[in-house]
Formats: sequence, structure tokens, C-alpha cells
Amino acid sequence: MEHIRTCEEIISALDPKDAASRELVSRAYEFAQNAHATQTRYSGAPYFVHPAEVGYRLAHMGMDAHTIAAGLLHDCLEDAGVASAILEAQFDREVLSLVRGVTKLGALRYRGLERHTESLRRLFAATAQDIRVLIIKLTDRLHNAKTLEFVPADKRARIAHETLEIYAPIADRLGMSVVKTALEDASFPYAYPKEFERTKELLKERKRENERRLEKAEKDLKRVLAEAQMREFRTEARVKGTYSTFRKLQRKQWDITAIHDIMALRIIVPTLADCYAVLGLVHKQWRPVPGKIKDYIAFPKPNGYQSIHTTVYTGDGGALEIQIRTEAMHRESLYGIASHLTYKEVQGRKKRGGGLDWIRQFLPGGGSAQREVSAHVKPRASRTVPEWVKELASADTDTEESEEYLENLRTDFFSHRVFVFTPKGDVIDLPLAATPIDFAYAIHTEIANKMAGARVNGKMVSLETPLHNGDMVEIITKASAKPSRKWHDVAKTTLAKKMIRAALSARKQEDAGVRKTQKKF
Ligand code: MN
Repeated sequence: MEHIRTCEEIISALDPKDAASRELVSRAYEFAQNAHATQTRYSGAPYFVHPAEVGYRLAHMGMDAHTIAAGLLHDCLEDAGVASAILEAQFDREVLSLVRGVTKLGALRYRGLERHTESLRRLFAATAQDIRVLIIKLTDRLHNAKTLEFVPADKRARIAHETLEIYAPIADRLGMSVVKTALEDASFPYAYPKEFERTKELLKERKRENERRLEKAEKDLKRVLAEAQMREFRTEARVKGTYSTFRKLQRKQWDITAIHDIMALRIIVPTLADCYAVLGLVHKQWRPVPGKIKDYIAFPKPNGYQSIHTTVYTGDGGALEIQIRTEAMHRESLYGIASHLTYKEVQGRKKRGGGLDWIRQFLPGGGSAQREVSAHVKPRASRTVPEWVKELASADTDTEESEEYLENLRTDFFSHRVFVFTPKGDVIDLPLAATPIDFAYAIHTEIANKMAGARVNGKMVSLETPLHNGDMVEIITKASAKPSRKWHDVAKTTLAKKMIRAALSARKQEDAGVRKTQKKF
């Protein structure tokens, strides 16, 4: 039987533990426990196992008391029949709006695929108001994915596929690698049973050799660092997720010997300078594999991930990936956006100065990626909503069919994004193959509607030029410029298309109006 997280366990993970936070969490715990008292899970366990686990995981991620309370209460409206008014009276508006955000559609207005996409749209709409909704939803999905074995077989595969195609990529985009990997590995066996078995077998064959190589490298490395007078560091083994290994196997024609990062050695050091010092020592000790050095500190991944990766020949005929990062980067790489919603991280950031720069623009007083976040202000969650979430929430419901909406989710939003910069250094997040037109509409509709040209990295380019990661884009405007049908066809984002259509139809009406007036005279 699954263990029910106790209130004490959740409180002990809570940070900060002020009286008000403790009180709110305990009250939510008790309320949810009573509300679900007579219900059971598919596993036969008491239903409360589930919300208690969600609350615990949220506390563990460092989320605030309101989010934890909402996590404990997240199924009260939908599954325990508690009225919204009661939840608001017992707690407050903030808790109620978080719980509502994660609650699926109440009325049966939609069925099948429509119902499913409508729930997703609602989820993104609620998330656009408050990013914490999405974090609760992911945590909810994570526990459900981990208990898939008890779910009836007909539902199981559907939930597993949906988790792999929608929820895991969302977690990835938010930089929450712990959640992403857990979602993937819990769903993989039920979504692709044969491939899972094959991957597991291959991994088993390699396990001992990988472990031996890692252990030896770790020992050697500790000696090398000690000889160089480096004292403050710690190492850990990173094991690649099974699903992620499978995806790589597919790309490598199932040749497992071509994958060098099934196990990687992580070195965590206090400062940025230490990272580069360690890289030097590693390369002095072992010859690096050409083309495998990736400096994600200087060039973070689109989701904010920072680390130095290098693969080295270990001298026994094999190779090993080594990842070097600071403690702050490490925490961010595990919890992503969730690590930015806590007071202590905002304070810490000021001291360390590292981190997910792109997220700063969403914090209060943001707008410039260079601006420092005030240490006194706790970020309001609603302000930290990334642009892509807002875009998903505002997708045109009239013109977009359910299939198309899901397809957009899979392709546009999660698999490929480019991150480009404004001349002031703000980061703009766009789908792959986006053009200066999409960029302009992502910044400001007024500017976009007067666009006459664009400069990318200082060079004039046509408005159809695809943008690449790291491009600096500048829009040139002219009073006489106006949107055209062609812009509409070139545009990649839903937002740009929508705005261009609006501008075109406004102009059509204007023209018609002008003709009418002319006739009168
Ligand atoms: Mn739930």
C-alpha cells in the first residue's frame, strides 16, 4: 500500500516555515483528508494518498504555502463535490483560483477530442493568469503517471501518450528536468511497451561497464582536483532517463555503444570561475572528444539550462560525459521555473548573479534582461508567465480545430523554439523558422503594423528570413508601411497571424467606408 504523506512531512519540507504558512498548509491537509475520506484510488488505496503526495512534492520543490494548499485541495471541486463558495470561505480567493485553474471542465459541453483540447486550452488560460497552476498540474500528472499500473488498460495507453506528448515537453520548456524525466519514464512502458523492453535490455547489458568507468573516472578526478588545491566541490552520477535513452537510440540506429551519456559525471562547484578551472583540469587529465564540448553557461539552452558539458576519452577504449556547474545552476537545472518562484532564490540570485536570464524579464521590474531583481520583492507568480503560455491561451478558438490545436502543441510549441534578442537584450521566444514578422508582433502590434524592414545582427534582411537562436533583431518602421496578405502567409505564430488578419480587415472596412463617403459627395 502506498504511504500517505503526513502533514508533518509536508511541513518539514516547507520553506519558509512561518506560522501563517504552517497553519494554511495544515488546514488544507485536514480539509482535503475529510473531503476525500470515503474515496479510493484505482489501486484501492485511500484517495487522499494522491493530493497528499502532490502537496508534498510541491513543498519539496520550494513552492509557497498557497500553492501547497492548492495542491492538497486540487481535486476537491472535481472529485469530492466541494462547492467553490465553501473553498473560498474556508481558505481564500488565491487558493480557490489555483484549484479552479487545475480543475477540468465541469459541464459536459464537449466530448471526446474536443473535450480534451478544451481542457488543455482552459489549463493554459488559467496558467496565463498564474504560472503556479501549471506547476500544480504537472505535479498532479506526475503522481498519476507514477501510478499508471493500477489504471484500467484502455485508459492507460492514452494517459501515457498524452503525458509524453504534452506534459513532459511542458515540464522541459519550464526547465523542470526532474519532473520531465519522471513523467517520461513513468509513461514510457505503457506508451511503447516493446521499445521499452528493448531499451531496458540494452541498458542492462551496459550497466556494469558504465558504472565501472564512472567510478574510476570519479576517483581519478577527485585526485586531480585535490592536487590542484580545489577543495570545495562535490560529484554525483547522473543516469540518463530510459525514455530519453530510447529517443537517442532511435537517432543512432539502436547502436548503444554510440551513446556516451547514459551515465555522466557531474561536478558541482561554488563559483563560475571554478567551472572553467575544472574544465581545464579535466581536459588536462583526459583528451576531449572533438566537437563534444558544449558551453551552456555562456550560451544557455532555450529553457535556461546552464552547465559545461564535455565528453572525454577515459583511456580504456570508452568515453564519458562530464557536466560542470555551480550549485545555483544545479538547482535551476532540476526545478527550473519553480526555483524562481521562491523568495530565497530571488535573494540568492542577487548574490550569485547567475541563472535563467530569460526569466528575469517576467519578474517585477523586468523588461530588461540585464536589470537586477530587487531582493525585497517576492515575484508575483502571474508576472512570470512565459510568452508561449500566453500564446497557447490566446489561440484562436473559432478557426482552430481540435486536431490542429493539438498538432500545434506538439510541433510549434514544444519541439523546436528559437530564442532571439531585442536590441535592448530582452529575450523573445519564437517557434522554429519564425521570421522578423513574428518577432515584431511578439514585441508590439503598433510597431509591427508599421514595419518596413528588419536588421538581423546588424545586417538588413528580408522580412521572410528565418531567425536563429541568439540572433539580435531590430525592426525598422516607416509611417506609410502596412501589413499585407503576404505577411500573413509568411508568419509562423498564431499571434502574428491573428494581428495581421485584424489589421487587414480593419483596412478593408476603412476602404469601404471611404468609398461610401466618396459616393455621397
Ligand atoms: Mn489529481
